Amino acid sequence: MGSYIDYLSGLVGWERFRAAQFGIHHYCTIGLNSKEANNEALAEQVIEVLPRYLLKEGVVAVGEIGYDDQTAAEDKFYRAQLALAKELDMLVLVHTPHRDKKSGTTRSMDVAVEMGVAPARVIIDHNNEETVQEVLDRGFWSAFTIYPHTKMGNERMVEIVRRYGSERIIVDSSADWGVSDPLSVPKTARLMLDRGIRSEDVEATCYGNALAAYGQSGQMQEEHWLNPAPIDQRVLFEGNSVLRGQSARGRVARDCSARRRDRVRVSWQLAALRGCKKTVASEGRSRCILGATRDPERSRFFHNLRAGGRKGR
Ligand SMILES: [Zn+2]
Repeated sequence: MGSYIDYLSGLVGWERFRAAQFGIHHYCTIGLNSKEANNEALAEQVIEVLPRYLLKEGVVAVGEIGYDDQTAAEDKFYRAQLALAKELDMLVLVHTPHRDKKSGTTRSMDVAVEMGVAPARVIIDHNNEETVQEVLDRGFWSAFTIYPHTKMGNERMVEIVRRYGSERIIVDSSADWGVSDPLSVPKTARLMLDRGIRSEDVEATCYGNALAAYGQSGQMQEEHWLNPAPIDQRVLFEGNSVLRGQSARGRVARDCSARRRDRVRVSWQLAALRGCKKTVASEGRSRCILGATRDPERSRFFHNLRAGGRKGR
């Protein structure tokens, strides 16, 4: 349990600070994921401490929660966390199982509705061609996690947007222990444009919809990355810096608005680190990516197509 507390504290504290030192506005979701729910003794204790972390600044949703093997324990803790989301008036990010995907997704939505959480407040993740129609029909957000080789590939994503349009569809990516590509979102956006998908649909699915969905939390605002606070790398987090092999020179980075005046492209990405989302601001060619994560399918980012949706870069 101590490790779990360290982990949650790290997500809302150190990681947020560390990201900020490099111009990244960090957001995350916090939750007991479905695989961890199967360790019931641990899960009970985690549920007890969750509210403390859910209410921290930058936490945009309870998540990811849901079913993996669809066990009784997973059901119990999914329901408990839906109740928590309702009580705290928070959004929910749902992980859908990779086995029995269709029935697991249906069940995830049934239980969310049963627990009184409004579909518009729930992002259903890891969709595919089999699940998208029902998720959209029922008013939930339909997110797709793009992997380089398996599960949802970006070619398939292009066809989904061609067929279903862009309303409530979100493209996200993974960056984890396994083979994954945190640049999947801009790459998919690029591919969509190349395949003739309208730029409005590309921007909505790869940027705007994620902002609209998670923006409901009040925690995530475009203003954060369009007009970021200046970076002061002299600042310490509980006495610690993020410097390695260098002295604290007190160099204050130029703020991003100055960079914009230099016509340097600013884009943003949103990544997730074990259920934790991070926004990554990147400037021009020196793109900064927070990628390394510990678990499959939990990392994702959204790419600003205003920056990335043009050819000849
Ligand atoms: Zn997941």
